Amino acid sequence: MTSTPGQATTVAEAAILRPGDDGYDAARQVWNAMVDHRPAMIVRCRETAEVAAAVLLARREGLEIGVRCGGHSVVGHAVPDGGLMIDLTPMRAVRVAPARRRAWVQGGALLGALDAATQPYGLATTAGNVSHTGVGGLTLGGGMGWLARQYGLTCDNVESCEVVLATGDVVRASADENPELFWGLRGGGGNFGIVTEFELRLHETGTQALSVALDFPAAEAAAPFARWRDLNATAPRRATYDATIAGGIVTLGFVWVGDPDEGREHARVLDALGSPIARRVEELSYVDLQRRDDTVEGHAVRRYWKGHYLRDLPDDAIDVLVSQDPSVAAGIQAYGGAIDEVADDATAYSQRGTVFEYVAAARWTDPAADEERMAAARAAAARLAPFASGVYVNALGDEGAEGVRRAYPADKLARLIALKDAYDPENVFHLNQNIAPSVRL
Ligand SMILES: Cc1cc2nc3c(=O)[nH]c(=O)nc-3n(C[C@H](O)[C@H](O)[C@H](O)COP(=O)(O)OP(=O)(O)OC[C@H]3O[C@@H](n4cnc5c(N)ncnc54)[C@H](O)[C@@H]3O)c2cc1C
Repeated sequence: MTSTPGQATTVAEAAILRPGDDGYDAARQVWNAMVDHRPAMIVRCRETAEVAAAVLLARREGLEIGVRCGGHSVVGHAVPDGGLMIDLTPMRAVRVAPARRRAWVQGGALLGALDAATQPYGLATTAGNVSHTGVGGLTLGGGMGWLARQYGLTCDNVESCEVVLATGDVVRASADENPELFWGLRGGGGNFGIVTEFELRLHETGTQALSVALDFPAAEAAAPFARWRDLNATAPRRATYDATIAGGIVTLGFVWVGDPDEGREHARVLDALGSPIARRVEELSYVDLQRRDDTVEGHAVRRYWKGHYLRDLPDDAIDVLVSQDPSVAAGIQAYGGAIDEVADDATAYSQRGTVFEYVAAARWTDPAADEERMAAARAAAARLAPFASGVYVNALGDEGAEGVRRAYPADKLARLIALKDAYDPENVFHLNQNIAPSVRL
């Protein structure tokens, strides 16, 4: 292992927030309003050496570590109750070398910052669908977005990472340096260290996009849904088929990244779905596409999610979907294309071969409704469980070790545990979808 010790051995007092300090409450807030954790200390890290120093400080003081980038972990893993939160948000810079088609993205950057830096050159790389999600958590778990069928998941576009380990050492991970760590960082989540910089490959995506959405009453949607599923099997990679089921309406369509006229041409195949009650065709910039759901997926609302991966969508599963509890909103997004061209053992990310991802989501504001709304989302997902083939690690919530076993097949999990034993045998980084080490020291 090559390593350079972190330069700072102490954390500057100015970087620390404690309960009662100005800015403490804002800094501990994350996306899901149900998360109300109170760290003993928040270290607002400005550089890699400070991240290393914060890890050592937490270990000296016996404080549980949480790592915060975009704060989108649905269960609030970023914020340790009574522990030390390593807040990476001040480290949000993105540097682009357009001629080399590379971006260097600091570990606390949001997806919106990545797109804002690359799109002036007509470049982009796969990122998620909501611009206030963090590059950190999204990339380490996989990274699904509208470009993935063309260019692979975000983790498939990582060239190298700078990582602070549990020892406070700083290492690089790439195909040539610490290759097993590099393997684990592409899908294994935040289990092995804190990534302070991602080097990402960029692509000539252009700046245009198109979204096509057809609404059907749920009671009449089974046949259109089945045709939409069949069309997805031969859809071009620039199209990512997506569907939502909410409030008794089923919306079927796709998102196109590329020339909108070609997208409109492709939209003609949806005529085979029958007569929708509404049809929306929206041409928009790629940057606007990436921000389109920012408000509906905004902060300060109570949230609960339950997800599945599906290798196919038989008619029986469609029957389950169209008869879903109207109070739950579910989303379906197609995978395939370039995602499936990466060898399964090339990355810790598992579940290539997934055809659709399903997420049941509940959002509400009244704390008195917590149990009822969570139960409704759980029940909707449970009805689809017989058709599931696993789950996306970044869609996991409160499922614990059982959820982690659903996210990784046994051989991947064994390799991840061996990596954890090598890099973090004391499980210093455990506030995540945890790969527990086999050795208890
Ligand atoms: C509204 C919304 C939309 C989403 N859309 C998508 C989508 O389109 N595609 C998709 O693939 N996923 C999506 N997700 C899921 C998302 O990928 C996960 O929630 C992810 O964990 C969020 O990362 P974050 O940095 O924002 O969250 P945080 O809560 O800050 O971090 C989550 C965990 O990631 C780890 N972590 C974060 N940054 C680092 C780092 N730099 N180094 C080491 N560990 C780190 C830590 O373990 C941390 O606990 C979405 C989530 C939400 C809430």
